[in-house]
Amino acid sequence: MNETVTLTIDGKEITVAAGTTILDAAKELGIEIPVICYHPHLTANGLCRVCSVETGGRVQAAACVTQCSSGMAVQTDSEAVQRGRRTILEMLSATVNLEEAPEILTLLADYGADTERFAGGARREAPVHDDNPFYIRDYNQCVNCWRCVQVCAEDAQYAFALNFEGRGFHTKIATFFDDPMPDTTCVFCGQCVGVCPTGALKPKRQALLEQGFSPDEVFQQTRRGRRKKHTVS
Ligand code: SF4
Repeated sequence: MNETVTLTIDGKEITVAAGTTILDAAKELGIEIPVICYHPHLTANGLCRVCSVETGGRVQAAACVTQCSSGMAVQTDSEAVQRGRRTILEMLSATVNLEEAPEILTLLADYGADTERFAGGARREAPVHDDNPFYIRDYNQCVNCWRCVQVCAEDAQYAFALNFEGRGFHTKIATFFDDPMPDTTCVFCGQCVGVCPTGALKPKRQALLEQGFSPDEVFQQTRRGRRKKHTVS
């Protein structure tokens, strides 16, 4: 017999299978909880904490990784929850270039985030990696959501070309030994580009077109035996 648990989310009662996350249970009720690092086809890690909700405990819980339990009374949009999300978004905007992250920009607007609140703080800065004909990596736009690492590893491709390096504020996505991508186990499947929620990973053709190069120049640059190199700035 399958075990179930009954709880309330924003005052609405629901019974779900044991092991169901708060995020999925809320979705069944038609309640959307915002996410950034979470992707429905990848392992959830609870990294960004934007999906945090009140569960009656001492601290808020990340809805994407917290399982429902019997009697739980979840608040997904209380004042404390909103304040927490706003602060996370304000810290993100202070440290990362979010210009090409439309979903996060929408969240910033929805939660009334003050993008100047932490102005003057350290920003995450990194060189743009333009080391292969297929895609560029601009970690100035990276929110460390981990999606690219997951999809490159056990969640899909099993290539393990990407990992992280550094600690704390200096943690960043990288290849092993920071090798150029053609020297890694990358098979250029493009799945990392597909799941990236920001402009950190971008097809090189798109990047060159955005910079005004003609389709012929782009073609020359992104095929084997290319004649002239245009570097993405
Ligand atoms: S490069 Fe993109 S997918 Fe990878 S961690 Fe950064 S934001 Fe996430």
